[in-house]
Amino acid sequence: MAEDLEKLYARLSLNANEEILIPTSAIIQDNTDLNLCLVGKILAPRIISPDQISSLFKRLWSPKGSFSCKSIHDNICIFSFDNLLDKKKVLASTPWLFDRYLLVLHDAVADINPSEINYSHCDFWVQLHHLPLGLMNKEFAKIAGNSIGRFLETDTDAFGSVMGKYIRIKVNIDITKPLHRVIHADVHGQKRAIYLKYERLPDFCFHCGIIGHVFRDCETRILNPPENSENFEFGNWLKAPYGPSTSSNHKRPPPSPASIQNQNPPNPPHDTLNQTSIPSPPSPTRPHSNDSISNLPPTHLLPS
Ligand SMILES: [Zn+2]
Repeated sequence: MAEDLEKLYARLSLNANEEILIPTSAIIQDNTDLNLCLVGKILAPRIISPDQISSLFKRLWSPKGSFSCKSIHDNICIFSFDNLLDKKKVLASTPWLFDRYLLVLHDAVADINPSEINYSHCDFWVQLHHLPLGLMNKEFAKIAGNSIGRFLETDTDAFGSVMGKYIRIKVNIDITKPLHRVIHADVHGQKRAIYLKYERLPDFCFHCGIIGHVFRDCETRILNPPENSENFEFGNWLKAPYGPSTSSNHKRPPPSPASIQNQNPPNPPHDTLNQTSIPSPPSPTRPHSNDSISNLPPTHLLPS
């Protein structure tokens, strides 16, 4: 709606009175005044009721102080806290999901309307699987994180080590681009594949790998239908499993209410296809479900 209005006003011929600039420097709130606020956009193909957004996140976040959620535009809300700790806890625990849809949070900015904010990045915990032992260190974790986004932190055990079945890294990711599925390292002249899995991954497109839509709504797929509609380049195998940690020496936190919400959406939307019902692409090498490599990508992604 805001974009429609922008286009409409852009083509109007304004008169002199309408062009007068109102001075605001003495009254405009600065970013500091807004530091108890967050703006957020839910990347969903349907409009979600602001009341539903408010009640869900109030329940999930359980703020100690007062809290309000007001709708600014479709699926865009401003969340106001009166306790900075509450806000910091919310930001530290991203990503947050509404049903299976991602809530992208951003600091409130004084100079623009929340609809103009670029909701293009979000922090995710990413697991690095199939690592050579010599690369199970913080230095490689940082390099790997920066190869798929902006590295933020690494999960370590009580001794400060990252060694385990996989390394967990927190990365700020550009969600307008396809999810990275694998990275490669040159290990003494040998190409080694390292497989990525994402914790609390929302709905994403199995065709193009971008978060925010499913393959039936994928414009890329509609414009260029694949020859074999059964084959997908992306799938649920990118989702890290929930439940007990597969990395026994890591301080992995228990699933948050948001992840529980993701596993058991209370109100599945009727206007989108639930891709989670689609089986993962067949993998002849996929062993039984409890095996530690059972969630590796299908073989067509493996290096030859
Ligand atoms: Zn797509």
